[in-house]
Amino acid sequence: MKAARTDAIRKDWDTYFMDIAYMVSTRSRCPRRHVGAVLVQGKKLLGTAYNGAPMGAPDCLEAGCMITEEAEWRNVDGQEQMIKKQRCIRTIHAEQNLLLFTDRADREGSIVYVTDQPCWTCANMLANSGVTEIVYDRVYLKDSDKVHDLMEQKGIRFRRLDPYSPPPQTEMEIMP
Ligand SMILES: [Zn+2]
Ligand SMILES: [Zn+2]
Repeated sequence: MKAARTDAIRKDWDTYFMDIAYMVSTRSRCPRRHVGAVLVQGKKLLGTAYNGAPMGAPDCLEAGCMITEEAEWRNVDGQEQMIKKQRCIRTIHAEQNLLLFTDRADREGSIVYVTDQPCWTCANMLANSGVTEIVYDRVYLKDSDKVHDLMEQKGIRFRRLDPYSPPPQTEMEIMP
């Protein structure tokens, strides 16, 4: 039956917008991480963004990643251990670029779909942006607890899209 077959391949809205976020992420030129984010209000796509250097400034492929090392405390088998982590700080995060390139009015009551669970800084900014729901795919453990607490305090719906698989060839391997 033709109608049934069309229904079976028709994407639900969550998958549809997350797929777009992954497509957007392929524009990123930071070899460490490709992140895409989209702004959706009432099923309308109102903005797209990915992580990248400021416009006109050299990007990670031209000038190399700008690496900083950060110490992070983590509980490993009941013991607090300090783990050193490298991060690229050349890029503006996808979520922050999304806020820079969208209007406040477009964000009120809107949903952000983002390929990766937001870091603390992005979550903090999103919490003040008018957005009322954040949907992500890949988990980012570093700031997870405090980000979840903040979202709860702000009454922002915060959820992982699961089950979900990104469209083919949109996912890069993430460096540790
Ligand atoms: Zn980089
Ligand atoms: Zn971030």
